[in-house]
Amino acid sequence: MPVNADTDVVDGDVDNVETDGSLPINELFYSLQGEGKLAGVPSVFIRTSGCNLRCWFCDSYHTSWEPTHAWLDLDTIVDEVKDHDEADHVVVTGGEPLIHDETVRLLDRLSTAGYHTTVETNGTIYRDASIDLASISPKLASSTPLPEKDPKEDGQWADRHENQRIDIDALSHLVEDYGFQLKFVTMDQDDVSDINQLVDRLRASTDAVIRDSDVLLMPEGATRERLNERRELTAEMALKHGYQYTPRLHVDLWNDAPET
Ligand code: SF4
Repeated sequence: MPVNADTDVVDGDVDNVETDGSLPINELFYSLQGEGKLAGVPSVFIRTSGCNLRCWFCDSYHTSWEPTHAWLDLDTIVDEVKDHDEADHVVVTGGEPLIHDETVRLLDRLSTAGYHTTVETNGTIYRDASIDLASISPKLASSTPLPEKDPKEDGQWADRHENQRIDIDALSHLVEDYGFQLKFVTMDQDDVSDINQLVDRLRASTDAVIRDSDVLLMPEGATRERLNERRELTAEMALKHGYQYTPRLHVDLWNDAPET
């Protein structure tokens, strides 16, 4: 694959790019699912590289702002998953894994092999795929890399991120077709009105039932120190609005260690 096509793939501009039966893989490891309805379940994690958004707080920076990866063919990926024979859950995460056509074929292979599949997605792309749990994390206004928060300090992604971060049609299809959870990364009280508005808008656009318990609030933070600053506030927000609180078990257990 030509180098410029590689850049397009990891920025999410995937039209007309032939990925040749491979995926850009940032890491593949065995751990406990740390977040959401399946928190605590032993799982193999496949982290693809590349994202169509640029949240300023991205906790997988090496899949978005500075993407790094090796191209692996699907046979190699599935073989590596099978090496972890303790697990029957696989989490396909990113970056944004649904920017890649090959992710659909990977999910089909995993499903055929009997794995439960979770896809961690920002909810801006719908794919018809073998997904058991769509773990959808719509990005709130507070995620936008405004100049004062831009890790690159060049302001190039603020408008693009803001324009792309919510796609109601894609969100509607995801909640209609798959088991789902809506997982919101929360910073402060100001996020609640943004969450309420989006949930109301989504409920109005789909016949799928979205229960308050399908809406999960998760404190922002990739270190214990950072989580400690936000955990209590997030829990209080969940209690007040009837939403579910989700921990980040992997951070509680292993702080910011890689491959956890
Ligand atoms: S959508 Fe996810 S992977 Fe992409 S920049 Fe935001 S936090 Fe990072």
